[in-house]
Amino acid sequence: LKEMYPFDMYAFANGLTEGELTVLQNVRNFLENDMKPVVNEHWEKAEFPFEAFKGIAETGIMNSPLLFEGREGARKPSELYNAFLYFELAKVDASLATFYTVHGGLCYNTILLGGSEAQIEKYAPKIASWEWQGCFGLTEPDHGSDIAGGLATTAEKVGDKWVINGEKRWIGGASTADVLPIFARDKADGKIKCFIVKGGSPGLSVENIKHKVALRQVQNGHITLENVEVPDEDRLENVNGFKDVARILRSTRADIAHLATGMTIGATEAALKYIKERDQFGRKLSGFQLVQEKVARMQANVVATMAYSIQLANMQEQGHFLEENSALAKMHNAMRMRETVAWGREVCGGNGITLETDVARFFADGEAIYSYEGTHEINALIVGRFLTGVGAFV
Ligand code: FAD
Repeated sequence: LKEMYPFDMYAFANGLTEGELTVLQNVRNFLENDMKPVVNEHWEKAEFPFEAFKGIAETGIMNSPLLFEGREGARKPSELYNAFLYFELAKVDASLATFYTVHGGLCYNTILLGGSEAQIEKYAPKIASWEWQGCFGLTEPDHGSDIAGGLATTAEKVGDKWVINGEKRWIGGASTADVLPIFARDKADGKIKCFIVKGGSPGLSVENIKHKVALRQVQNGHITLENVEVPDEDRLENVNGFKDVARILRSTRADIAHLATGMTIGATEAALKYIKERDQFGRKLSGFQLVQEKVARMQANVVATMAYSIQLANMQEQGHFLEENSALAKMHNAMRMRETVAWGREVCGGNGITLETDVARFFADGEAIYSYEGTHEINALIVGRFLTGVGAFV
């Protein structure tokens, strides 16, 4: 384990099973061999490396039998594996980890937590095998942080169908998705419900957002829904109000806490590699005291973010975790990640602003992670409400 996780100074990986470690190694090999060589080029072109990414399904990342040993009946691998999977993905590239999270985190959890048994049976296996690519349509052009009260997309029941009208913005992977869970307000009772819209449905159009300076490989869609019809059987039965959306976000926000940990690890690894190779004043940068102090701080952030991630994963596994647990973890880990990627850029000097040293990509991408899945402020307000008993959102 020490060899596989040299950054894991407090042995958080000890709870992983042999089977989980095998799959994590498969994922690592795939990322190192197939993805790492193409990420910078695609980041620059603002294109997702679909061709190379196809191989992800073969790693068994979501559904390998090795992940389900001793977990009979479970639909998801263990939360500890999930945390380490995000570390693995995000330490290579935040766009890949984000593409994974909209599919394997947001979409998959929406089906598992919001669907009936029949709906889970219909969708979950095909998402887990990547036969169908999924996304998550909650945010709107005029409603981000205030989505709970503001959500304006409407759904109207007409016979045995629903008719959806509205717009969604920032939806990762939307333009290529086969399965688009869309949150809309029922015109009859005013409650937020979730509808599985199929890619290519009449009335559905997706335009990718241009000119992003973060997560450039991910295509974020601006979706327009004009009288899009969804059969009643594709309305997720267990989403009947924002409390159910919050139940989904509580879990997916934990994923982003892990993703931020992965970026913290990735930036630290990239900085260490650089300082061991670069000479100044006739010796390696790694031999200077001030440089060592900086990487020691980065490593402290690695440990702190891992500690949040792993304890949160333990609580999730036991089924005892609250909205404020994932809000605080996301808030903390994104803050520490943001600080760490900036230090990573700093220790690489001028070369730190080129894609070759990897830290520039982490530095730019960190801004998106800081703001999505609940901004810093919104997560702080969830924690603030827990601490003070006062909801300060409005
Ligand atoms: P706003 O809500 O307009 O906030 C702007 C600023 O004001 C922020 O700093 C915010 O914290 C602050 N603010 C707002 N209200 C308060 C308040 N009450 N008190 C204090 N400060 C406040 N959404 C999806 O549904 N699916 C996706 O796949 C998806 N992917 C995304 C990918 C990227 C790269 C990005 C950038 C966003 C993505 N989002 C997605 C949307 C994301 O969740 C929102 O951007 C986020 O919730 C913030 O909303 P907003 O951008 O509208 O900012």
